[in-house]
Amino acid sequence: MQASTSEVYGDPIVHPQKEDYWGNVNPIGLRSCYDEGKRCAETLFMDYHHQNKVAIKIIRIFNTYGPNMNVNDGRVVSNFIVQALKGENITMYGDGFQTRSFQYVDDLVEGMVRMMNSDPQFLGPVNLGNPNEFSMLELAKTIIDLTGSVSKIIFMPLPKDDPKQRQPNIELAKEKLNGWEPKVQLKEGLEKTIAYFEGILK
Ligand code: UDP
Repeated sequence: MQASTSEVYGDPIVHPQKEDYWGNVNPIGLRSCYDEGKRCAETLFMDYHHQNKVAIKIIRIFNTYGPNMNVNDGRVVSNFIVQALKGENITMYGDGFQTRSFQYVDDLVEGMVRMMNSDPQFLGPVNLGNPNEFSMLELAKTIIDLTGSVSKIIFMPLPKDDPKQRQPNIELAKEKLNGWEPKVQLKEGLEKTIAYFEGILK
């Protein structure tokens, strides 16, 4: 199984993203090694399948978070939680109106297991993500609320080619993976993740 990601959609013009959307990717930008790397990996999986009959599956993972992330992971959920717990400034890149749809790790794992047990004819790619979409400002405010933090939000430059929006269409996953859909919504997932970081930052 290839753990592909929503990077294959780049900075998407079609919203929400369905698996048959080919994406909007800059081939030579700062994020290109990530985006094109995932696209190339999907191509290689398909080629090995077509040429050599290798049994393959492809999932496209959308932003996922949860306990056991590295403190220095650098992604937004762990950054904001660690900053909030330490009372440090929350580093908002850009104006914070860009959106992401955050999936709790347990929902992803359930989707992966179902994908591996699915009909061998079903190769994917299939989106695995939580369709509930939030701006980074909403995320920061929710984390500040849940942690009771005194942290302030500071605004920093937006990295180049940072996607403005990301939201999975998960109809294919529901159909092919026995009605799979995310069970853990953002607040509950953040509470569990905050509890984890509280434990390791003590
Ligand atoms: N982001 C932010 N502050 C941070 C880390 C990330 O504002 O400390 C923003 C980032 O610019 C992006 C969003 O949060 O718009 C999600 O970033 P992440 O790296 O977690 O995921 P990806 O961009 O790969 O979807």
